[in-house]
Amino acid sequence: MTKRIFRTIIAVALVVLLASLVLIAGALYSYFNTIQFHRLQEETALIAQNLTREGSDYFQNSPPSTTCRVTWIASDGSVLYDSLSDNAAMENHLSREEVIQALQTGYGESARYSDTLLERYLYVAQRLPDGTVLRLSSAQSSVLNLMLGISRFICVVLALAIVLSMFLANHLSRAIVKPINELNLDDPLSNRDYEEIQPLLRRLDAQQNRLRIQDMELGQKRREFEAVTRALSEGLVLLGSTGTILSINPAAARLLSVTPNCLGADFSVANQNPDVATLVEQALTGTKAEATVILEDGAYLAAASPVKSQGAVSGVVLLLFDVTQKRQAEQLRREFTANVSHELKTPLHVISGYAELMKSGMVPQQDMAVFSDKIYNQAQQLIRLVEDILRLSRLDEGAADMQWTAVDLYEAAQSAMASVASSAELNRVRLHLEGDRAVVSAIPQLVSAVLFNLTDNAVKYNKPGGSVTIRVKDLGSQALLMVSDTGIGIPKEHQERVFERFYRVDKSHSREIGGTGLGLSIVKHGVMILGGQLRLTSAPGKGTTVEVRFPKEQTQTQ
Ligand code: ADP
Repeated sequence: MTKRIFRTIIAVALVVLLASLVLIAGALYSYFNTIQFHRLQEETALIAQNLTREGSDYFQNSPPSTTCRVTWIASDGSVLYDSLSDNAAMENHLSREEVIQALQTGYGESARYSDTLLERYLYVAQRLPDGTVLRLSSAQSSVLNLMLGISRFICVVLALAIVLSMFLANHLSRAIVKPINELNLDDPLSNRDYEEIQPLLRRLDAQQNRLRIQDMELGQKRREFEAVTRALSEGLVLLGSTGTILSINPAAARLLSVTPNCLGADFSVANQNPDVATLVEQALTGTKAEATVILEDGAYLAAASPVKSQGAVSGVVLLLFDVTQKRQAEQLRREFTANVSHELKTPLHVISGYAELMKSGMVPQQDMAVFSDKIYNQAQQLIRLVEDILRLSRLDEGAADMQWTAVDLYEAAQSAMASVASSAELNRVRLHLEGDRAVVSAIPQLVSAVLFNLTDNAVKYNKPGGSVTIRVKDLGSQALLMVSDTGIGIPKEHQERVFERFYRVDKSHSREIGGTGLGLSIVKHGVMILGGQLRLTSAPGKGTTVEVRFPKEQTQTQ
């Protein structure tokens, strides 16, 4: 810009200078012309006066002392006298403009260029009283000549002018550009140096405001996106078309063991997991890839999908889903199936064995009742097992088909006690029920199953002469149910595990007394569906207490 202004100023200065020179030369020329004409007129008048007085002798006696050419012309145009040439050789002057004018009006003047155009001649003619015409002429330099004459002066002036205008232009262009260079673009409206650029600054200010708003909106969106992805337990990574990390949520950073501030880094450098790297490389070529990979804390399904725009891969989205639980669930299901088969096999084998013996007639008549009894007991065990399995599988499905209603825990405890009364009597265990009504919103079948299993266990794993106490208490927002026994208790190391399916502290003892190993699993699952909390405290040899807190009002959790 400085150069442009500089060049413009120089050009303008030169044009103005040249124009001024031409104008001045023209004006000078015209001025000299007028002066010269005046001089010619004065001299013509003077010589005419003398010539009129002295006649033709004037030229012989005292020829006029003048630098002008003097010509005396007869009224017929013939030259009577010429100060420069021989009269006789001169042509007739009647056609000359100034002579014609003088003959007609008494005075005439004209100006003509010489053949070379470098000189111009001024002519002034005056008619004398005798009819003859006196003409004076003098040479005058043409404008061109004049210009040539002062060319040296012009060159000097031009050179000076160029130097001066270069200096001024340099100074001026810097002075013009300086405030522009020093514009405060962060606050365009604060610049008041040039009124002319105010519209530009106003537009700049409006644009900056728009950018600020867009920036704020973008920031807001980014924060929202980050807030959402931060809360995700799944890993999420966004990559650019060249594999640079555009966004990575904390879960992904943790799982891939990369620092969360690795934005802008190359994923292939930041990530150390070769399986994930392979998936991403494949996605960058435009093909979706997924595989189960083992990361930081378990098995994850890694899915790398290319993001395409106009046919080209513009980025990759990498998602990491935790499939550990799914795997564990599958494992549990497998174990459960194996356990179920095993649990069913034992009584079936026993039944089949006894039945075979009876069929072959190898059992004496007096033992038949014992064998039949054994078969009956095993069949009962099978029935209990199948019932418990069915109950658990319904609970696994969330007990969605079961109805919620108001259930009085005290009443439910009474019926649970009634159903274990005979076995309690058999085991010489006393049953007690304490407390008062406590109505909760629950699924009656689940409450019954929980109470029955806890009371049944309290009787089964008791000692002869022991006791079982059920306490029901209304705690306001909760209802408390406690089933305590004075039985054999559960060793510390088993207390956590007794709620697992088919887990028993003493397998053979449990089977002997008709246990399925599923009772406490049903209790745990049932309490969970009812939104309650379960706590087991036990001391081996002293007894066990299971405490369940039910919420009075339900927010259904199934
Ligand atoms: P089971 O059908 O064998 O009773 P449960 O799931 O009800 O199965 O119980 C799991 C195991 O926990 C039982 O085998 C038993 O060893 C132990 N157990 C449960 N309740 C009690 C209790 N009240 N006292 C002592 N041990 C208990």
